[in-house]
Amino acid sequence: MTVVTRFAPSPTGRLHVGNIRTALHNWLLAQKHGGRFLLRIDDTDAQRSREEHVEAIRADLAWLGLHPEREERQSARFAIYEAAFERLVADGRLYRCYETAQELDLKRKILLGRGLPPVYDRAALALTEADHAARAAAGDKPHWRFKLDHDTPITWDDGIRGAQQFDPRQMSDPVVRRADGSWLYMLPSAIDDIEMGITDVLRGEDHVSNTATQVQMFQALGATPPRFAHEALLTGSEGKLSKRLGSLGVADLREAGIEPEALVALLARLGTSDPVDPALTAQELAVSFNLAHFGRAPARFDETELQRVNAAVVHRLPFARVAALLPQGMGEAAWDAIRPNLAHIGEAADWWQVIQGPIAPPAFDADTQAFLAEAAQVAARLDWTNDPWPALTSALKDSTGRKGKALFLPLRQALTGMDHGPDMKALLPLIAQAEAVRRLS
Ligand code: GLU
Repeated sequence: MTVVTRFAPSPTGRLHVGNIRTALHNWLLAQKHGGRFLLRIDDTDAQRSREEHVEAIRADLAWLGLHPEREERQSARFAIYEAAFERLVADGRLYRCYETAQELDLKRKILLGRGLPPVYDRAALALTEADHAARAAAGDKPHWRFKLDHDTPITWDDGIRGAQQFDPRQMSDPVVRRADGSWLYMLPSAIDDIEMGITDVLRGEDHVSNTATQVQMFQALGATPPRFAHEALLTGSEGKLSKRLGSLGVADLREAGIEPEALVALLARLGTSDPVDPALTAQELAVSFNLAHFGRAPARFDETELQRVNAAVVHRLPFARVAALLPQGMGEAAWDAIRPNLAHIGEAADWWQVIQGPIAPPAFDADTQAFLAEAAQVAARLDWTNDPWPALTSALKDSTGRKGKALFLPLRQALTGMDHGPDMKALLPLIAQAEAVRRLS
């Protein structure tokens, strides 16, 4: 059976790191099995859904390289939900209720006060057709609950959490449709998962109790539930879900110079026992993606680690991948020379400035000035096309007797204005010979 996964965001805001991880893991799971990955926009809530968020979700996924095979939108599928709804009503699995939020709240408080679980008492099931008619005459519109089957224990073998068991008697019949006819997310989602042939639902553990009721919805709709797996939630480096993490999105990360390859490399492994490996491509990450390697403990997202992974990724990026992001005129040799020194691609401009000049060298003492003057003379005589740095330094070593730091540091400082930086062997040929001679003089 082909694996079909989906990412099903509600377009009520920007994707944050947690959503992005869910999207990525669903993509990886599909890729691993040569399956399909769908994007489903859960926009049944017309009030809170925004087109700009839908567009941002698409753009974020594209930036990450997670291309869904197709996109579906719940708002285009109301007729399908309506038909399933009618069937479930006819089967007696949906029933009308009229309790207000305040009444429900009071019921819950009473139960909790008695030390009982705050489960809906199903009072509405006792209503007769005459009661409903009277309600309708009074202008009261019902909301609808899904009637859990109390005689069938709810079980599934969770891909991450293992065997799960819920007693439906301990659970409230979930509200699936509001009095204004609008849908809550759970029933349309189950209908769609069936219709779209979803084989694997991978999502956060905040959905575990939804899954418990959805398992029965799948059964009531005549379908075998998909495989479920619930990931431990993401926490910040302090161990809690920080406000920052809850809102940290692709736009912020991009602005901070994070490359999609780095985010993918880190998030692919976050929550698993597998080490983060910046060398792996998304396809390679998919091959090694394994739900069995996920733990139950909260997964820690550490921004410092992301910076580290990002630097390691940048050091590997080939020229073709970054060419359009580099300063005008900066070629492959320059990129290859400086990339080991970058934390992010934006810093390439600083090194390009060092190569092009002007630079600001430090003040040198008289002794060093004499040494540099000699270096300028040697540099002027060199064949610049033939590895000038070793030629320059070995000639100066012989003529001045300097070695180590005393030899290399003044040259680097005079040529770049800095104490540290890219390998001079790679950097020097990029500085024009005349310019290098001028800097040394
Ligand atoms: N729209 C739901 C959410 O964003 C989907 C959850 C799911 O079934 O994956 O929480």
